[in-house]
Amino acid sequence: MERKIELHESHPRYLSLLAREKLVTGFKRGIVASEGLIAHGRGECFDYLLGECTIQSSRDAINVASAALLLANYPIISINGNVTALCVDQICRLNRSLENSAVEINLFYYTKEREKLISEEFKKYGLTRLFGIDPNNLESIPELESNRRLVDRDGISKADVVFVPLEDGDRTIALKKMNKKIISIDLNPLSRTSLSSDISIIDNIVRVVPHLIENIEYLKKNSTEQELNYIVNQFDNKKVLKESLDILKSSKTLINF
Ligand code: ATP
Repeated sequence: MERKIELHESHPRYLSLLAREKLVTGFKRGIVASEGLIAHGRGECFDYLLGECTIQSSRDAINVASAALLLANYPIISINGNVTALCVDQICRLNRSLENSAVEINLFYYTKEREKLISEEFKKYGLTRLFGIDPNNLESIPELESNRRLVDRDGISKADVVFVPLEDGDRTIALKKMNKKIISIDLNPLSRTSLSSDISIIDNIVRVVPHLIENIEYLKKNSTEQELNYIVNQFDNKKVLKESLDILKSSKTLINF
């Protein structure tokens, strides 16, 4: 029987429940893999400990990520089922803001059907070309064995900056070895993705992408190339990881209750 849940904005965990609902709907529609639901659960746990907010070090990382994306010659946004279910509209907006970027699909739990559904979902929000779909245009990243080894010759393969919201560690490390600059979103500062990225945004994707768009629009209007380079060059990713870990360990959020 179809379940119907009413979510009220007054609920203290409204946004978290909304994200769950989006993922469950995505799962029922075939966009999200069952494993994607579990991965989200791991993220929720870290989000809880971070106080379900964007901490200062993540704000800084978002600013640096915005500058790096604006400086890139050819940035690629890598997407999967969870990213689609949670923020397809925002990812399409981000892509439009950047102007010289493109979107590429990569599914760990690949099925042709899921790929098609995700591609249709992006089309609904105005994306005209999604890389990573044409089998004749895919090539393998060295040292990776799963479906994650594939990249598009005209997408990630050519990119200088790859934005990986919700990526798996092996693939992030492999992309780094291809000399890509990696910007990641992952609530877990200890994941291999966070540890191996150039810019690690330790925050929930649903909060990050709107901030990122806002920041990019601001920097586009108000910063010179020299200023963008300064923002990127002074950044210390280890400091971001350390600060988020310190907050997780300090249980500061408990004080708010
Ligand atoms: P890695 O392979 O990088 O070492 P992992 O094996 O823990 O990490 P996966 O299982 O590939 O990672 O993916 C789950 C990761 O995604 C978790 O680290 C989790 O914190 C993160 N995550 C899940 N949902 C979100 C979300 N909404 N926003 C940000 N991060 C999320």
